[in-house]
Amino acid sequence: MYSDEKVFNKMVERRRDFHRYPETGWTEFRTTSKIAESMTDVGMDIRFAGDFVQIEHVLGRNADIEAQVTRAVIQGASPEMIEKMKGLTGLTAEIDTGRPGPVTAIRFDIDCVDTTETGGSSHLPRQLGFNSVNPNCMHACAHDGHTAIGMTLAEELFSEKSSLKGKVRFIFQPAEEGARGGFAFVKSGAVDDADYFLTFHLGLGNPTGTVFGGTDGFLYSTKIDADYRGVGAHAGAEPQKGKNALLAAASAALSIHGIAPSPDGLTRTNVGVLNAGDGRNVVPPKAHMKIETRGATEDAAIYIYRAVMRILHGAAEMYDVKLTTQKCGEAISATSDRELAKIVMEAASSVCGVDRTDLIQPMAGSDDACWMMKKVQDNGGKATYIGIGADTKAGHHNDHFDFDEKAMLIAFEVLYKTVFMLNGK
Ligand SMILES: [Zn+2]
Ligand SMILES: [Zn+2]
Repeated sequence: MYSDEKVFNKMVERRRDFHRYPETGWTEFRTTSKIAESMTDVGMDIRFAGDFVQIEHVLGRNADIEAQVTRAVIQGASPEMIEKMKGLTGLTAEIDTGRPGPVTAIRFDIDCVDTTETGGSSHLPRQLGFNSVNPNCMHACAHDGHTAIGMTLAEELFSEKSSLKGKVRFIFQPAEEGARGGFAFVKSGAVDDADYFLTFHLGLGNPTGTVFGGTDGFLYSTKIDADYRGVGAHAGAEPQKGKNALLAAASAALSIHGIAPSPDGLTRTNVGVLNAGDGRNVVPPKAHMKIETRGATEDAAIYIYRAVMRILHGAAEMYDVKLTTQKCGEAISATSDRELAKIVMEAASSVCGVDRTDLIQPMAGSDDACWMMKKVQDNGGKATYIGIGADTKAGHHNDHFDFDEKAMLIAFEVLYKTVFMLNGK
């Protein structure tokens, strides 16, 4: 049996280390290296994503990989582990008891958010010296906590291997933000044999001490990059020779935000980035947009996605410019199995610090763990997305985000006890 204090201190130390060195989706080389080192140190079998993920299923991996690898090594990644990753981040670690029993897969997301952390003096990570050192990278969604919990849980359960049956697989998934990693892991078969699938999120607007056995209401989502190519020209002497990519993008952005609601369910769309033009006196030859669509049902999701694509193409036609689009991320919806959510609630009921448990939390966001949930359910298994409340200083993805670290011990204990209820000998 683990010691609460030892486990808590280990998670805090790890969480703060990951918080200081955040890495965006598909560039989590340092993070993957640290997980791999810890898992192999205790003698667990690991598999790097580079050994099982097929590159054609990888979505939205646009970063300069060489530069990110170099930074990871400077910041403490093991060059030997980096070599074994073959350019892809993420890994799975497994406890195979050798005894017949269920296969339980637990997923932890490891990437950061693309935003710059505040340097404000009231921000605890700044006060305690673990503020992010990587520009435009911040653990503003608590995945630093998820990773620390996953590593510590794997170690502690591994030491209890003789009391377990079946297999327990720990999936450290890259690129959850922008829904870019889950699909590749599912396509690679990471959960094909799972009887049970668990994942969780800290925070999500719920206070420390709250535990939800499951989550429903995930939105389908598609992430789209759009690029317009026009022709640059002298804006004073011969504007008629130009083809204006900026106007096409601006026109598309306004129309996208004016799409009528769907009768098939709630829809959302956002043009989050629009960069265009070269200089003041040049007809803008290029424009770049980052767009997302969301829908509560498959039909609503298809409706909003098609409307956005129609507008993008229509604007290209209107301004006689060329359009290229790329799908950079995709998530589906899934529901949590009540039977499994009830087991989690039962496990949570005896955890110190838990003062409220409920079966299902409603959700209005997206998570690419839904690919895994759906896959397991389609194969006849059960899946649930657990909600672990954590007090936060600001909303998720805000530059002042910080969470109550005590929630990590609650998450650890809920998962530990749930695994024993599913895989205990
Ligand atoms: Zn997030
Ligand atoms: Zn998140």
